[in-house]
Amino acid sequence: MSRPPLLRYAVAIGTVVLALLLSLWLRPLIEPNPFLLFLAAVAFSSWYSGLRPTLLAIALAILACSYFLLPPFFSLILGMREILRVMGFVVVSMLIVVLGEARQRATAEVRRQREWLHITLSSIGDAVIATDIQGRVTFINAVAETLTGWKQADAQGQALEQVFKIVNETTRETVESPVSKVIRSGTIAGLANHTILIARDGTETPIDDSGAPISDARGPIIGVVLVFRDITERKQADNALHESETRFRSVADSAPVLIWMSGIDTLCSFFNQTWLDFTGRALEQELGNGWTESIHPDDFQYCLDTYRSAFHQRQEFSMEYRLRRADGAYRWLLDTGVPRFAPDGSFAGYIGSCIDITERRQVEEALRASEQRYRDLANAMPLIIWTAGSDGAVNYYNQSWFEYTGTTITRTGGWGWPAVVHPDDRQRSLDRWNHSVQSGEPYEIEYRFRRADGRYRWHLGRALPIRDEYDRIVAWIGTATDIDDKKRAEDALHFLAGAGTLLASSLDYETTLASVIHLVVPRIADWCTIDILEEDGTLRLLALAHVDPEKVQWAQELRQQHPINPDASVGAPNVVRTGQSELYPVITDELLISVARDTEELNLLRAVGYRSAMVVPLMVRGQVLGVITFVAAESQRYYGPDDLELAEQLARRAAVSIDNARLYREAQDSLRARQVFLSIASHELKTPLTALMGYASLLQRRTAQNGVLTERDRRALRVIVNQATRLNRLISALLDLSRIETGQLSIERQVFDLYAMARHGVEEVQPALERHTVSINHLHEPLFVEGDELRMEQVLQNLLQNAIKYSPEGGAITVLVQREDDWACLSVTDQGIGIPTEALPKLFHRFYRAPNVEAEHVSGIGIGLFIVKEIVSLHGGEVAATSTEGKGSTFTIRLPLSKHLPVAQDRLAASGTDDNAVETRA
Ligand code: ADP
Repeated sequence: MSRPPLLRYAVAIGTVVLALLLSLWLRPLIEPNPFLLFLAAVAFSSWYSGLRPTLLAIALAILACSYFLLPPFFSLILGMREILRVMGFVVVSMLIVVLGEARQRATAEVRRQREWLHITLSSIGDAVIATDIQGRVTFINAVAETLTGWKQADAQGQALEQVFKIVNETTRETVESPVSKVIRSGTIAGLANHTILIARDGTETPIDDSGAPISDARGPIIGVVLVFRDITERKQADNALHESETRFRSVADSAPVLIWMSGIDTLCSFFNQTWLDFTGRALEQELGNGWTESIHPDDFQYCLDTYRSAFHQRQEFSMEYRLRRADGAYRWLLDTGVPRFAPDGSFAGYIGSCIDITERRQVEEALRASEQRYRDLANAMPLIIWTAGSDGAVNYYNQSWFEYTGTTITRTGGWGWPAVVHPDDRQRSLDRWNHSVQSGEPYEIEYRFRRADGRYRWHLGRALPIRDEYDRIVAWIGTATDIDDKKRAEDALHFLAGAGTLLASSLDYETTLASVIHLVVPRIADWCTIDILEEDGTLRLLALAHVDPEKVQWAQELRQQHPINPDASVGAPNVVRTGQSELYPVITDELLISVARDTEELNLLRAVGYRSAMVVPLMVRGQVLGVITFVAAESQRYYGPDDLELAEQLARRAAVSIDNARLYREAQDSLRARQVFLSIASHELKTPLTALMGYASLLQRRTAQNGVLTERDRRALRVIVNQATRLNRLISALLDLSRIETGQLSIERQVFDLYAMARHGVEEVQPALERHTVSINHLHEPLFVEGDELRMEQVLQNLLQNAIKYSPEGGAITVLVQREDDWACLSVTDQGIGIPTEALPKLFHRFYRAPNVEAEHVSGIGIGLFIVKEIVSLHGGEVAATSTEGKGSTFTIRLPLSKHLPVAQDRLAASGTDDNAVETRA
């Protein structure tokens, strides 16, 4: 109702006026019902002008009728009958108004609905085409216009096939018109799939559509509405989805892992082929919760709980369980599930994969068992075993470590172990370990570890790197072996060896003991004293040592001021008395109080800072020679039985050394006494002997001249001279021996001709020969040597006398003097009894006599050759013997040739005072 109100009122009034005029004109015709035309006017007004103008029209009609058409005419006053007629008019008019109004409203509603429908269809996102029952287009919305290329104006009344050309995507055949399909079926009909719409300009668009019949209120179909849409994008998306799904399936099926998927209802909706092959079951059997039938009963609850709890929280999970394989064997699977989310972020279920870890678990199990075995083994070992990572941090110790150190892994794991290493070894061991960790070189070190009781013990630490297949270090395995006993024994041996060498280095024991004491300090003790027991029973301080010289002086002064109490019940006096060592592992203040004689001494003892002490006797052959005292103070060490043992061993060696020195001194004294005695005795013996020999010789010469003696007497006289000469030689030899032993045999060096000397020696021996001949072979040229000619003559005489003596049958004796390179050689060869081969090496030993001499009854004392060797050695020469037993011997001496010529000398003048001179002159 869009008519202007003024027009509507004007029309209403005009209609009433027209009805009045017509009624007046047609009065005779309408006499019986003067309201007739007015009813028509009301009806028209109601149709055209609406409610209010019609009400106005009714009011005007009543007025006009009352005034002009109802008696009394031209008056508004009416009789009862007329009033009833007016009321009848009003009722009928109101009826008309009500009916008209209702119809108006219905028409407006229809129009509104139609407009709304039009707008809806026009603004809908899908394309809409409506046709009539003949299939002619009655409506086409904007989207349909775009897709078909037809405008509403052009399309209106066109056959649908013209506007809506559709073919099959693949066959290109014309698809049946949906209109006929709908009309035939009378229901909503969808298009066949893969339909292509060909637009007016020929462009093709894949569409998806449906058709529905349009029926009027009474039911018959009056047209068809087609709704369709461009599905290009959806098709692309569908294709992509399809492709992706196909890809996923082929990937999933070819994957070596078992893959499953579940939806938001926790039920499984997918299993890949690998899964199905594994379980040997069909997909249908597995779907939903079917797959759980293959879980090992023992793992079922665990699986369920893990899965549900993760599902509930939308969290990733992984679980290990046994799943029955197609062959019935249960295999361990590692199942990892992750939640899936749709592109809009909504939870879509889970996807999971499982791998067969049965072998891995078996290996792990075997590894665990083997590891446990190694751990048990390591724990059963008495040595310390540890392992460290490639960074050098310790990550494992066996039980021995914890038992030994009394620590925990928290305290000594990682880099905490140096805390129990002796402070003196700490830096060294850390440096060494760092070096090994960086270089990969094996670790080896000797260091001390603190035991739970606080004592340090030496250990041999070793570690080797463990490398992987690429030769990278992955770990270290190390051991620490307690070598304390061995080390201490070695140290003790080393110490004792050092002390032994020192003690043997000199026979002056006072000096060597003073040196030994410096080996003791600080190696074994902080303080060490050696006291020697004097003959009067007092203890004399022989040596005192401390690292600090000032303290040494202080202690020495102290000792003078406070001599040892000889009656003390403990300490050095007691050790001297008992011969037993004393060990004080811990010296308490009570002990000091008990031994101190007065407060002053107590204070002094306290000042020393005693911790531990040992007092051991210097004892040999049951006799105490002195005492060694070892005191531990500032080093804080405490002595034990091992230390006492070492101290006693040292004391034993020291005692033996003192004893040896004393014995040596005594031996020296007696040797000196013997030497004095021998020289006095030989002098005293020689004086009468020389006189005896002189007079015997004189007697010999005189009787030879005057012939007063019988042959028998002369022989007796010769025996006297020979025996006296022999006695003289013996005395000289004894004297020489004594000189050699006391180191007093000396030679005077002069250049002399060895050949001349030998010739003279041979000449000298000639007169006494009876059954022997002595000849000398030479080169007739001088052989100058440097030395004591008289002593060398003594050597020759010795050899000649032996040659004579050991050739009891007589025979030729040959003296040969010759030169060999830079040597002058003199040899004496006889044809006597010879020397057994086994005796040759010992021939020049003192007092040695070959075993064959006794059988031959040749007397002697076995010092002649010893003296020969000593004299030749003093000349820088050598002597040797060769022999064939029973056939004779050869003694050869070799002396270095002199590089100088001789100085004129008078041999005989020089021989005046010598013992041998007596013999040679005689
Ligand atoms: P003695 O002759 O007083 O026994 P020696 O020292 O002169 O002492 O000689 C040592 C030993 O060497 C002799 O006992 C003897 O066995 C052996 N000996 C030395 N010279 C000869 C020799 N010329 N022929 C055989 N044996 C000899």
